[in-house]
Amino acid sequence: MTLSKVLIIAGSDPSGGAGIQTDIKVATSLGVYASAVITSLTSQNTVNVSNIYNPDSRILDSQLQSVLQDIEFDVIKIGMVGSRDNIDVILKNISKYCKKTPIVVDPVMVATSNDSLFEYEDLDLLKAIISSAKIVTPNIDEAERLSQISINSNDDIVLAAKKIQEIGVENVLIKAGHLDQGEKVENIFLDKDGVVNVVENDRLDKGKIHGTGCALATAIACNIAKSNDITLAVKGANEYIFKNIEKSQKVGSGSLILTHF
Ligand code: PLP
Repeated sequence: MTLSKVLIIAGSDPSGGAGIQTDIKVATSLGVYASAVITSLTSQNTVNVSNIYNPDSRILDSQLQSVLQDIEFDVIKIGMVGSRDNIDVILKNISKYCKKTPIVVDPVMVATSNDSLFEYEDLDLLKAIISSAKIVTPNIDEAERLSQISINSNDDIVLAAKKIQEIGVENVLIKAGHLDQGEKVENIFLDKDGVVNVVENDRLDKGKIHGTGCALATAIACNIAKSNDITLAVKGANEYIFKNIEKSQKVGSGSLILTHF
């Protein structure tokens, strides 16, 4: 059996609920080998993000070169980018080593705790990364920022998805969990042919859960690595997250987390 390999480029959440720690758990639980390069070191727990430390981007550059010169990845997942210098470094390494590798971008901006994880003046640079991606997975807030459309309904989500696709990304999945739509969560998946799919699941009344966005993007990446069918990858990942939300647990005094087992 061939081994599928994902390169995760993301921030560190020491509490293990989100970020690169969760991404590795997702990949492992889906049977995909994970390499991981860290963009940013956060101090956070299940309650809040108290500090963000972005190491010198030369470290990211050196680590990306090391892994990319050696390992051929089936897919790359990009999460929290950290700094504008990091974005430059990521773009440079992708165009040098892995132009054809499918990329999943989770355009991380704000944590569930409402703490900011992104400098908005870097939005145009983030769009450059998004334009090289196979799929981008914004939540409602991120989709509003990227599309400049205020979202209050499913029609607005579709409009925003189309606007985001104009950035140059093939596929757009907008996570609608934060939009109050009643008993179902209806995520909108706009594929590269312009077809709008509704990827829905029952709404579970669990309260705040930390790390679902990171986990979903990584699950999509792992499914792409295994089969390369984007629609199946999105639906399978949604199912994976839904099942894990059902089993979510409390490990601290704040948000619940996904265990991935
Ligand atoms: N911390 C890091 C390092 C992340 O990459 C993310 C991803 O979105 C978060 C925190 C936010 O996670 P959540 O919004 O689920 O709290």
